[in-house]
Amino acid sequence: MQLDDQRASGNVEDRRGMRMVGGGLGVGGVVIAVIAYFLGFDPGTVLNVAEQVTSQRETREAPKGAPADQMGQFVSKILGSTEDVWGKIFQRSNSRYRPPTLVLYDGLVRSACGMGQSAMGPFYCHGDEKLYIDLAFFRDLRTRFRAPGDFAQAYVIAHEVGHHVQNLTGTLQKMEVARGRVSQAENNRASVRMELQADCYAGVWGHHAGTMNQLDSGDIAEALNAATAIGDDRLQKQTQGRVVPESFTHGSSEQRVRWFKRGMDSGRPKDCDTFSTSSL
Ligand SMILES: [Zn+2]
Repeated sequence: MQLDDQRASGNVEDRRGMRMVGGGLGVGGVVIAVIAYFLGFDPGTVLNVAEQVTSQRETREAPKGAPADQMGQFVSKILGSTEDVWGKIFQRSNSRYRPPTLVLYDGLVRSACGMGQSAMGPFYCHGDEKLYIDLAFFRDLRTRFRAPGDFAQAYVIAHEVGHHVQNLTGTLQKMEVARGRVSQAENNRASVRMELQADCYAGVWGHHAGTMNQLDSGDIAEALNAATAIGDDRLQKQTQGRVVPESFTHGSSEQRVRWFKRGMDSGRPKDCDTFSTSSL
Protein backbone atom coordinates (compact mmCIF):
# COMPACT_ATOMS: atom_id res chain seq x y z
CA MET A 1 0.00 0.00 0.00
CA GLN A 2 0.98 3.62 -0.53
CA LEU A 3 0.09 5.55 2.60
CA ASP A 4 2.63 8.41 2.58
CA ASP A 5 -0.07 10.98 1.79
CA GLN A 6 -2.69 9.46 4.09
CA ARG A 7 -3.33 11.23 7.39
CA ALA A 8 -3.27 9.03 10.47
CA SER A 9 -6.56 8.93 12.38
CA GLY A 10 -6.48 10.20 15.95
CA ASN A 11 -9.35 7.87 16.90
CA VAL A 12 -6.99 5.25 18.27
CA GLU A 13 -6.69 4.07 21.84
CA ASP A 14 -3.42 2.35 22.62
CA ARG A 15 -3.94 -0.15 25.43
CA ARG A 16 -0.91 -2.25 24.53
CA GLY A 17 1.24 -3.14 27.50
CA MET A 18 -1.46 -2.22 30.00
CA ARG A 19 -1.79 -4.53 32.99
CA MET A 20 -5.13 -5.68 34.31
CA VAL A 21 -5.93 -5.71 38.03
CA GLY A 22 -8.84 -7.03 40.12
CA GLY A 23 -10.52 -10.38 39.71
CA GLY A 24 -13.54 -12.44 40.59
CA LEU A 25 -16.43 -13.68 38.53
CA GLY A 26 -18.88 -11.60 36.59
CA VAL A 27 -21.55 -11.90 33.97
CA GLY A 28 -19.86 -10.08 31.11
CA GLY A 29 -19.07 -13.34 29.38
CA VAL A 30 -22.60 -13.83 28.17
CA VAL A 31 -22.53 -10.66 26.15
CA ILE A 32 -19.31 -11.67 24.46
CA ALA A 33 -20.96 -14.55 22.66
CA VAL A 34 -23.01 -12.16 20.53
CA ILE A 35 -20.18 -10.02 19.21
CA ALA A 36 -19.55 -10.39 15.53
CA TYR A 37 -16.18 -12.03 15.22
CA PHE A 38 -13.88 -11.80 12.30
CA LEU A 39 -13.25 -15.53 12.47
CA GLY A 40 -15.58 -18.44 12.96
CA PHE A 41 -14.57 -18.68 16.59
CA ASP A 42 -16.47 -20.90 18.99
CA PRO A 43 -18.18 -18.57 21.49
CA GLY A 44 -18.26 -21.29 24.16
CA THR A 45 -14.51 -21.17 24.54
CA VAL A 46 -14.56 -17.42 24.84
CA LEU A 47 -17.21 -17.50 27.51
CA ASN A 48 -15.13 -19.51 29.95
CA VAL A 49 -12.20 -17.16 29.95
CA ALA A 50 -14.42 -14.13 29.74
CA GLU A 51 -16.30 -15.01 32.92
CA GLN A 52 -13.12 -15.38 34.88
CA VAL A 53 -11.68 -12.04 33.96
CA THR A 54 -14.72 -9.88 33.46
CA SER A 55 -14.33 -7.79 36.59
CA GLN A 56 -10.70 -6.98 35.99
CA ARG A 57 -9.80 -3.48 34.95
CA GLU A 58 -6.92 -1.61 33.45
CA THR A 59 -4.48 0.09 35.78
CA ARG A 60 -4.26 3.40 33.97
CA GLU A 61 -5.87 5.57 31.29
CA ALA A 62 -4.94 4.51 27.74
CA PRO A 63 -3.11 7.06 25.57
CA LYS A 64 -5.31 8.40 22.73
CA GLY A 65 -4.22 9.37 19.23
CA ALA A 66 -2.10 7.70 16.55
CA PRO A 67 0.76 5.70 18.14
CA ALA A 68 4.25 6.54 16.87
CA ASP A 69 5.51 3.01 16.19
CA GLN A 70 5.34 1.56 12.69
CA MET A 71 2.38 -0.79 13.19
CA GLY A 72 0.54 1.83 15.20
CA GLN A 73 1.03 4.33 12.39
CA PHE A 74 -0.11 1.78 9.81
CA VAL A 75 -3.41 0.94 11.52
CA SER A 76 -4.03 4.65 12.24
CA LYS A 77 -3.57 5.48 8.56
CA ILE A 78 -5.85 2.65 7.44
CA LEU A 79 -8.44 3.87 9.94
CA GLY A 80 -7.92 7.42 8.61
CA SER A 81 -8.46 6.16 5.07
CA THR A 82 -11.72 4.42 6.06
CA GLU A 83 -12.88 7.66 7.75
CA ASP A 84 -12.20 9.64 4.58
CA VAL A 85 -13.99 7.13 2.36
CA TRP A 86 -17.05 6.50 4.56
CA GLY A 87 -17.23 10.19 5.46
CA LYS A 88 -17.73 11.03 1.77
CA ILE A 89 -20.15 8.16 1.17
CA PHE A 90 -22.35 9.19 4.11
CA GLN A 91 -22.15 12.86 3.07
CA ARG A 92 -23.46 11.94 -0.38
CA SER A 93 -26.61 10.58 1.22
CA ASN A 94 -26.88 13.66 3.43
CA SER A 95 -25.89 11.95 6.63
CA ARG A 96 -22.85 12.23 8.84
CA TYR A 97 -20.35 9.46 9.43
CA ARG A 98 -19.53 9.03 13.12
CA PRO A 99 -16.10 7.37 13.13
CA PRO A 100 -15.40 4.43 15.43
CA THR A 101 -12.44 4.18 17.80
CA LEU A 102 -9.79 1.56 17.18
CA VAL A 103 -8.38 -0.06 20.33
CA LEU A 104 -4.99 -1.77 20.22
CA TYR A 105 -4.46 -4.27 23.00
CA ASP A 106 -2.35 -7.19 24.18
CA GLY A 107 -3.93 -10.43 25.34
CA LEU A 108 -7.05 -9.28 27.17
CA VAL A 109 -9.24 -6.23 26.82
CA ARG A 110 -12.34 -4.81 28.46
CA SER A 111 -15.10 -3.64 26.11
CA ALA A 112 -18.71 -2.56 26.58
CA CYS A 113 -19.56 -6.01 25.16
CA GLY A 114 -17.56 -7.83 27.84
CA MET A 115 -13.98 -9.01 27.98
CA GLY A 116 -12.21 -9.70 24.73
CA GLN A 117 -9.16 -11.85 24.19
CA SER A 118 -6.66 -12.25 21.36
CA ALA A 119 -7.79 -15.75 20.45
CA MET A 120 -11.15 -14.33 19.35
CA GLY A 121 -9.51 -12.38 16.57
CA PRO A 122 -10.40 -8.73 15.90
CA PHE A 123 -13.94 -7.74 16.88
CA TYR A 124 -16.29 -4.79 16.86
CA CYS A 125 -18.42 -3.82 19.85
CA HIS A 126 -21.51 -1.78 18.98
CA GLY A 127 -22.00 -0.85 22.65
CA ASP A 128 -18.97 1.45 22.66
CA GLU A 129 -18.51 1.77 18.86
CA LYS A 130 -14.95 0.52 19.10
CA LEU A 131 -13.01 -2.04 17.12
CA TYR A 132 -10.55 -4.15 19.07
CA ILE A 133 -7.38 -5.54 17.55
CA ASP A 134 -4.49 -7.39 19.10
CA LEU A 135 -1.72 -6.87 16.56
CA ALA A 136 -0.59 -10.47 17.20
CA PHE A 137 -3.47 -11.38 14.91
CA PHE A 138 -1.58 -9.92 11.96
CA ARG A 139 1.25 -12.32 12.71
CA ASP A 140 -1.27 -15.20 12.78
CA LEU A 141 -2.69 -13.98 9.50
CA ARG A 142 0.78 -14.14 7.96
CA THR A 143 1.94 -17.44 9.43
CA ARG A 144 -1.00 -19.60 10.55
CA PHE A 145 -3.40 -18.48 7.80
CA ARG A 146 -0.66 -17.91 5.21
CA ALA A 147 -2.12 -14.54 4.25
CA PRO A 148 0.76 -12.06 4.24
CA GLY A 149 0.73 -8.46 3.06
CA ASP A 150 -0.26 -5.01 4.30
CA PHE A 151 -3.49 -4.99 2.30
CA ALA A 152 -4.52 -8.28 3.92
CA GLN A 153 -4.14 -6.50 7.27
CA ALA A 154 -6.00 -3.46 5.98
CA TYR A 155 -8.86 -5.73 4.88
CA VAL A 156 -9.19 -6.98 8.48
CA ILE A 157 -9.57 -3.43 9.78
CA ALA A 158 -11.90 -2.44 6.93
CA HIS A 159 -14.08 -5.49 7.69
CA GLU A 160 -14.51 -4.42 11.34
CA VAL A 161 -15.23 -0.86 10.15
CA GLY A 162 -17.87 -2.53 7.95
CA HIS A 163 -19.61 -3.75 11.12
CA HIS A 164 -19.51 -0.17 12.42
CA VAL A 165 -21.22 1.00 9.23
CA GLN A 166 -23.88 -1.69 9.83
CA ASN A 167 -24.30 -0.22 13.30
CA LEU A 168 -24.75 3.31 11.94
CA THR A 169 -27.24 2.16 9.29
CA GLY A 170 -29.28 0.11 11.78
CA THR A 171 -28.58 -3.31 10.22
CA LEU A 172 -26.81 -4.57 13.34
CA GLN A 173 -29.74 -3.61 15.57
CA LYS A 174 -32.24 -5.38 13.31
CA MET A 175 -30.18 -8.52 13.58
CA GLU A 176 -29.90 -8.25 17.39
CA VAL A 177 -33.68 -7.99 17.65
CA ALA A 178 -34.17 -11.13 15.56
CA ARG A 179 -31.60 -13.09 17.54
CA GLY A 180 -33.07 -15.30 20.22
CA ARG A 181 -36.43 -15.50 18.50
CA VAL A 182 -35.20 -17.86 15.82
CA SER A 183 -33.38 -21.19 15.62
CA GLN A 184 -29.61 -21.57 15.78
CA ALA A 185 -29.53 -22.46 12.09
CA GLU A 186 -31.48 -19.29 11.30
CA ASN A 187 -29.12 -17.22 13.46
CA ASN A 188 -26.15 -18.68 11.63
CA ARG A 189 -27.64 -17.81 8.25
CA ALA A 190 -28.26 -14.23 9.39
CA SER A 191 -24.71 -14.05 10.73
CA VAL A 192 -23.32 -15.13 7.35
CA ARG A 193 -25.30 -12.33 5.66
CA MET A 194 -23.90 -9.80 8.16
CA GLU A 195 -20.34 -10.99 7.71
CA LEU A 196 -20.49 -11.11 3.93
CA GLN A 197 -21.87 -7.57 3.93
CA ALA A 198 -18.96 -6.45 6.14
CA ASP A 199 -16.61 -8.10 3.61
CA CYS A 200 -18.37 -6.25 0.79
CA TYR A 201 -18.08 -2.94 2.73
CA ALA A 202 -14.35 -3.67 3.16
CA GLY A 203 -14.27 -4.00 -0.62
CA VAL A 204 -16.09 -0.67 -1.00
CA TRP A 205 -13.35 0.96 1.05
CA GLY A 206 -10.71 -0.87 -1.04
CA HIS A 207 -12.27 0.50 -4.23
CA HIS A 208 -11.90 4.08 -3.01
CA ALA A 209 -8.42 3.42 -1.61
CA GLY A 210 -7.61 2.41 -5.18
CA THR A 211 -8.95 5.66 -6.62
CA MET A 212 -6.82 7.51 -4.01
CA ASN A 213 -3.77 5.65 -5.43
CA GLN A 214 -3.19 3.83 -2.15
CA LEU A 215 -2.96 0.37 -3.70
CA ASP A 216 0.06 -1.43 -5.10
CA SER A 217 -0.18 -4.13 -7.73
CA GLY A 218 -0.67 -7.35 -5.83
CA ASP A 219 -2.64 -5.70 -3.01
CA ILE A 220 -6.02 -6.98 -4.18
CA ALA A 221 -4.59 -10.49 -4.48
CA GLU A 222 -3.44 -10.22 -0.85
CA ALA A 223 -6.97 -9.41 0.33
CA LEU A 224 -8.53 -12.16 -1.78
CA ASN A 225 -6.01 -14.61 -0.41
CA ALA A 226 -6.86 -13.51 3.16
CA ALA A 227 -10.61 -13.81 2.49
CA THR A 228 -9.99 -17.34 1.19
CA ALA A 229 -7.89 -18.26 4.20
CA ILE A 230 -10.57 -17.32 6.73
CA GLY A 231 -13.61 -18.82 5.01
CA ASP A 232 -15.64 -21.07 7.33
CA ASP A 233 -15.13 -24.15 5.14
CA ARG A 234 -11.36 -23.67 5.12
CA LEU A 235 -11.21 -23.08 8.90
CA GLN A 236 -13.47 -26.03 9.69
CA LYS A 237 -11.44 -28.34 7.51
CA GLN A 238 -8.29 -27.26 9.34
CA THR A 239 -9.68 -27.43 12.87
CA GLN A 240 -12.18 -30.31 12.80
CA GLY A 241 -11.31 -32.09 9.56
CA ARG A 242 -14.77 -31.74 8.07
CA VAL A 243 -17.09 -29.05 6.75
CA VAL A 244 -20.54 -28.39 8.24
CA PRO A 245 -22.23 -25.65 6.18
CA GLU A 246 -25.19 -25.28 8.64
CA SER A 247 -22.75 -24.09 11.28
CA PHE A 248 -21.15 -21.43 9.09
CA THR A 249 -21.24 -17.98 10.66
CA HIS A 250 -19.05 -16.01 8.25
CA GLY A 251 -19.47 -17.66 4.87
CA SER A 252 -17.33 -19.95 2.74
CA SER A 253 -14.02 -18.87 1.25
CA GLU A 254 -15.67 -18.53 -2.15
CA GLN A 255 -18.46 -16.34 -0.73
CA ARG A 256 -16.09 -14.11 1.23
CA VAL A 257 -13.95 -13.56 -1.85
CA ARG A 258 -16.97 -12.90 -4.07
CA TRP A 259 -18.56 -10.32 -1.76
CA PHE A 260 -15.29 -8.53 -1.11
CA LYS A 261 -14.76 -8.37 -4.87
CA ARG A 262 -18.27 -7.07 -5.45
CA GLY A 263 -17.63 -4.09 -3.14
CA MET A 264 -14.17 -3.62 -4.60
CA ASP A 265 -15.50 -3.53 -8.17
CA SER A 266 -18.47 -1.24 -7.57
CA GLY A 267 -17.43 1.04 -4.69
CA ARG A 268 -21.13 1.46 -3.82
CA PRO A 269 -22.55 0.21 -0.51
CA LYS A 270 -25.95 -0.41 -2.11
CA ASP A 271 -24.37 -3.25 -4.08
CA CYS A 272 -23.64 -4.96 -0.74
CA ASP A 273 -27.22 -5.97 0.01
CA THR A 274 -26.59 -9.49 1.26
CA PHE A 275 -30.00 -9.53 2.97
CA SER A 276 -32.36 -9.43 0.00
CA THR A 277 -30.37 -11.53 -2.42
CA SER A 278 -31.41 -15.15 -2.89
CA SER A 279 -27.95 -16.22 -4.08
CA LEU A 280 -25.45 -15.48 -1.33
ZN1 LIG B 1 -17.13 -9.79 11.09
